[in-house]
Amino acid sequence: MSYLPSEVDVLIVGMGPVGAALAQLLSRYGTKTLVIDKAKSIFMAPRAIALDNEALRVLQMCGLEEDAFDKVAIPEVRMRSPLFGQYSRAVTAGSVDGHPKLVTFFQPQLEQVLRDRLQDSRHVTIALGVSLVSLTQDADQVTAELQTEDGQPHQVRARYMVGADGANSLVRRILGQEFKGKTFAEDWLVVDAKQLPTPIDHVEFICDPHRPTPHMVAPGGRQRWEFKLKAGETREQMEHPDTVKRLLQPWTQGKDIEIERVAVYRFHARVAEKFKVGRVLLAGDAAHITPPFVGQGLVSGLRDVANLAWKLAWVCHGRALPSLLDTYDQERRPHAKAMIDLAKMMGRLVMPSNHATAFLTHGLMSMMTRIPRLKRLFENLEIKPPNHFRVGCFVKPLRGARLRRGAQMPQVWLKPRAGGEVVLSDDVLGTGLAMVGFGIDPSAGLTPALTQAWAARGGQFIQINPRGQMARTSTQSLWEDLGGGLMPSVVPVGWLAIVRPDKVVMHDGPCTDAAALIEHAMSMHDSLSTKELTPGLSHP
Ligand SMILES: Cc1cc2nc3c(=O)[nH]c(=O)nc-3n(C[C@H](O)[C@H](O)[C@H](O)COP(=O)(O)OP(=O)(O)OC[C@H]3O[C@@H](n4cnc5c(N)ncnc54)[C@H](O)[C@@H]3O)c2cc1C
Repeated sequence: MSYLPSEVDVLIVGMGPVGAALAQLLSRYGTKTLVIDKAKSIFMAPRAIALDNEALRVLQMCGLEEDAFDKVAIPEVRMRSPLFGQYSRAVTAGSVDGHPKLVTFFQPQLEQVLRDRLQDSRHVTIALGVSLVSLTQDADQVTAELQTEDGQPHQVRARYMVGADGANSLVRRILGQEFKGKTFAEDWLVVDAKQLPTPIDHVEFICDPHRPTPHMVAPGGRQRWEFKLKAGETREQMEHPDTVKRLLQPWTQGKDIEIERVAVYRFHARVAEKFKVGRVLLAGDAAHITPPFVGQGLVSGLRDVANLAWKLAWVCHGRALPSLLDTYDQERRPHAKAMIDLAKMMGRLVMPSNHATAFLTHGLMSMMTRIPRLKRLFENLEIKPPNHFRVGCFVKPLRGARLRRGAQMPQVWLKPRAGGEVVLSDDVLGTGLAMVGFGIDPSAGLTPALTQAWAARGGQFIQINPRGQMARTSTQSLWEDLGGGLMPSVVPVGWLAIVRPDKVVMHDGPCTDAAALIEHAMSMHDSLSTKELTPGLSHP
């Protein structure tokens, strides 16, 4: 076990997609990390299939290029009922923040890519076939007792631990954070198959109360079905090849197809009461589990790690007070819960197994689509809870804010003045703090002392101009907003924004307030001055 360190900044328990993405982000922030998994290989059962633009943006932050793993862009999600035909739909064509609104993918391939990227990391050690057995924590550290595959014990001390150990999380149990309250508890058979005679390009919910069935396309010529189990049907019966063949008959047209993966799952809907207890944090399925009807389980886990990674890095590097980590729970838990509530509602609304309820809800939804406001709610995905924080590490907006503080800054395509490739703006903002000037040099109103202090904290200055206005300026980093996604539609010339490493807007205001904005951001950043500042409080 010589390869296993005894002291690290962060110990991640679980290297599913959430643990791997967190390790990747911590590697980019240069934080000494150990990530362990009791399994030696990637879990191959059929699980996540859909990712939205927010998840793809987090994977971009992890350093994954657009073509790092296979995807199918989904133009439309259709709801079909035997009584009303296609009674509703969601338009998922196009992109938001530089990424397709909805794609399908192959989870084991994404997990492999994330693992491969960690192989050369100077900061992250990967230990597979190593289990967490127990943990204790005190004011200074977490002590974890581990066990290797051959039964050898090993002790690791970490400044922080993250339980990314999945739905049956041991970390969550040790913390006394067992999921409480009602759960959804429905059994579904999931089937992935290849070589289907008829290709499809979309997702459809076959809302037949007799057997509700979501059906969708996936990369590699795959299609997926999820069949709800009826009372009395067992896992063994449903996973039997004859049953699977019979269920797929409407799509196979008697032809031989390849059944790739089959599994019965019990879907639950639960959220832990706290995502942080002392020095231990929960992320991904360890913190929240959801039925997959809106494809948000892994997406929520990826939102967790984008929010958590930079905070862990800053605290471990002595750049911020440990109280910064409290904002992880404040910012993430309400949204994770809202997504689960949406998934439960969609499950009941779209796929009831009771005929009378199906007649009522599908009939009502069919009528609602004739009212433009309600139609938009479903068609344009306005029903999806926006990822906007109510409290957390940002300066609460007073009147006049132009960007939504406590939400990610819209991502746009930028063209560099210096010439070269067009890039997405998150890649320009980088992994630290950024002060962005819109149509103005962001450092123009600052004293040399403030400019130097900002640079000393890894802060960047970036200027974004409207398309066609590559003005002469002293700003080294000058970019043109190619599609006009930010300027002038969202922010006027002369506006400034301070953006966190996870691209959440921390502060914004007119260039006349430049010094106040940057001092504010630095006081949040700097451990000495943060003593007087509670993140999330409003500062004029
Ligand atoms: C049928 C189905 C469809 C889904 N569809 C979607 C979808 O379309 N979109 C979406 O976003 N999500 C979807 N999900 C949810 C998604 O698959 C999960 O949210 C995601 O896989 C959770 O990742 P994780 O890393 O948190 O947990 P896991 O992937 O479960 O990883 C946890 C890891 O921890 C390890 N571990 C556990 N205990 C220990 C221990 N004591 N010591 C060391 N290691 C340990 C395990 O071996 C495992 O590798 C779906 C899920 C299912 C079941």
